[in-house]
Amino acid sequence: MVSGFKGGVFGLFSKILIANRGEIAVRIIRACREMGISTVAIYSQADKDALHVTMADESYCIGGPQVANSYLNMAAILEVAVVSGAQAIHPGYGLLSENAKFAALCKECNIEFIGPSAEMIEKLGDKDEARRTMKAAGVPVTPGSDIIDDIDEARAKAQEIGFPLLVKARSGGGGRGIRRVDSIEEFDNAFLSAKAEAKSAFGDDAVYMEKYLFPVKHIEMQLLSDKYGNVVCLGERECSVQRKNQKLIEESPSSAVTPDIRAKMMEATVKAAKAVNYENAGTVEFLLDKDKNFYFMEMNTRLQVEHAVTEMVVGIDIVQWQIRIASGAKLTVTQDRVFMHGNAIECRINAEDAEHDFRPDCGTIDFIHVPGGPCVRFDTAIYQDYTVPPYYDSMIGKLIVQARSRELAIRKMKMALSELTINGIKHNRDLHIDILSDPAFVSGEYTTGFMEERRQRMEKKNS
Ligand code: ADP
Ligand code: ADP
Ligand code: MG
Repeated sequence: MVSGFKGGVFGLFSKILIANRGEIAVRIIRACREMGISTVAIYSQADKDALHVTMADESYCIGGPQVANSYLNMAAILEVAVVSGAQAIHPGYGLLSENAKFAALCKECNIEFIGPSAEMIEKLGDKDEARRTMKAAGVPVTPGSDIIDDIDEARAKAQEIGFPLLVKARSGGGGRGIRRVDSIEEFDNAFLSAKAEAKSAFGDDAVYMEKYLFPVKHIEMQLLSDKYGNVVCLGERECSVQRKNQKLIEESPSSAVTPDIRAKMMEATVKAAKAVNYENAGTVEFLLDKDKNFYFMEMNTRLQVEHAVTEMVVGIDIVQWQIRIASGAKLTVTQDRVFMHGNAIECRINAEDAEHDFRPDCGTIDFIHVPGGPCVRFDTAIYQDYTVPPYYDSMIGKLIVQARSRELAIRKMKMALSELTINGIKHNRDLHIDILSDPAFVSGEYTTGFMEERRQRMEKKNS
């Protein structure tokens, strides 16, 4: 529980430090302002002109441009929290959001980490342990293996699972640490290189295997749970439009999820949360096959990039609820009061060069025009004359729209995208416009293979 001095207009925290940057830092500052909570920003030397720095009530430079020296610098962040008198830290997504050590250090400093406990992050961040926990709780899990170190044992298990399969890093995330193996001939090489990659990327070379399911949709369920065991599921998001296992377009609801399947997936989600006594916002990721079987993939113990899609459909501010829950408030949203209204779509706007293998781009924005109108939302931290630094994630904004039906949402999104103008850096706006006209996307029947199939179609057309 939070000790001592709660303030704020709703008896919450009176000051929160945001341990992140970019659009998500801005998003969290907005939630705090609406709630009457003061904000403390931290920033790197490369981010002195960043929007989150000017928007926060107080800002502190904590180190050099590289994230290791700034946004991942736990000691510096905690020092600012203590000195500024912040009672809680919101970690956003990425960076320290799923770092159990950081959550534990916050607790030691008597600062509330806005998210689940260190133990919970550790338990669910270990993808192998999470699979075993969910299996035991009766949640269907992707067929696969436990952690295997020995290559001979792994090869034998691989043959039992069957090809294609995925070798996955236990500590993987952000689409990294995953390797697909199509045949036994490829196995030894893939297994060893997956281990090496996992070691260098996550400092942990433990891997396990999963059957590669195809064709499937990536369907994830958003949940909120408080400190008193109340859990509410805010429905699904479909995130099957992915490039290199990274999401590009998300929508809610999914056209593949019937009311019956939704009820089953929501039940599994609540079961998953209750099985671990989960606290705060979280996402349970599933794969859904064409026979409508669904399988647990992993649980993300943090705010998701695409949370706004759910906010637009259910009309609930997820970030504000994260803050309330962390402050010890009881969840007053009950399952029978969660309704999904119409359809929402999100396009991730990335500063990247689609013509050169999506290589990240940076530079100065010399003109920007943001679309508006009813139910159009652009979450960003860029502005006119802002220089996008080369050190961070290439996502520079998220365009989200909501409308009465999927068809109308697609139309609205296309209109909003065509209005969105960002000059000075390369970005993927036109790619989004193309995808929204792609018959496979329009039909709603697309799978996680969508981007690769599209690439192959284009290659054929151009040859
Ligand atoms: P989401 O479902 O929210 O998109 P992702 O897994 O794509 O989740 O990750 C969200 C953000 O966190 C991205 O910016 C991604 O680059 C970053 N991220 C996730 N996991 C890691 C990790 N292990 N190391 C570094 N960055 C990560
Ligand atoms: P991360 O932690 O990097 O987000 P995930 O385990 O969530 O890793 O997998 C990332 C993506 O890879 C999924 O969204 C899905 O598209 C694909 N994927 C993961 N596991 C499987 C599987 N067993 N079969 C088919 N595709 C998978
Ligand atoms: Mg995932």
